[in-house]
Amino acid sequence: MDYVGRIYRPPSESTSLLLQVTVGCSHNRCTFCDMYRDKPFRAKPREQVERDLLEARALGPKFSRVFLCDGDALILSTTRLLEVLAQVRRELPWVERVGTYGDTRSVGKKSVAELSELADAGLGIVYHGVESGNDQVLAFIEKGGTRQHCVETAAKLREAGIVHSVIVLLGIGGTRWSEVHARDTASVLTAMDPPYVGALTTTVVPGTPLAAAEARGDFELPSKFGLVRELHTLVEGSELSACRFSSNHASNYLPVRAELPRDKPELLRILSAIIAEGDEGRLKPEWMRGL
Ligand code: SF4
Repeated sequence: MDYVGRIYRPPSESTSLLLQVTVGCSHNRCTFCDMYRDKPFRAKPREQVERDLLEARALGPKFSRVFLCDGDALILSTTRLLEVLAQVRRELPWVERVGTYGDTRSVGKKSVAELSELADAGLGIVYHGVESGNDQVLAFIEKGGTRQHCVETAAKLREAGIVHSVIVLLGIGGTRWSEVHARDTASVLTAMDPPYVGALTTTVVPGTPLAAAEARGDFELPSKFGLVRELHTLVEGSELSACRFSSNHASNYLPVRAELPRDKPELLRILSAIIAEGDEGRLKPEWMRGL
């Protein structure tokens, strides 16, 4: 398989065939993100993608899922994506689901009819970094979309029958917007009502604009318990109809996995107790956080 640069995929795609159809991220401006800074965005040549699929076919039915890399492969034209999905079906007929990262831009550019076509061709899940439901925070981190765009993205994916897996970032509003970030993120999740939510913890990566903002004193990460309070506000404020909620990413101080709304009372009870105790021993030590 031909891979250009570092390859990222969601944790739940750890056993998937990683098929790189684009290099980098077409946005590449989020201030906290360093994933693709070294890679100018481009689509990979058709012939290369075809060669990769032939190579994967030679392995036999080893992978039941395919994940299209890099950052926002969904930004490719619908025609090109349909071509890739058809090739996956042809060469790897045993594949049950294709997934990709997407966002307000890539979904916003496509009609529900186009998204439905992609779903029929095998696209089953889109992972979307919403990060925050607060427009000030979204502007601060240069996310390039608004909370309203996030709500529209969720509605379109739902109508097209594509599973929407949402990622939000604890701490991304810093201490300045910590409370309003958590509240507005809870309310945007309610409006989006996705079946999967992953809450990750912001890491200030050296060399990023967020690190520069931190050095200037324009950004300060909330304390460990400040982050747990954000998690509490997020869970308390969101009304989700059927959601697998997790904060078990390596970056988090408090790993949580819950089915909402079923587990909400118990989860809030645990979070409240941890906040009230203020015992750092209940949180994951720094050295155990995989960043
Ligand atoms: S859209 Fe995603 S991959 Fe692209 S810069 Fe933002 S966080 Fe990074």
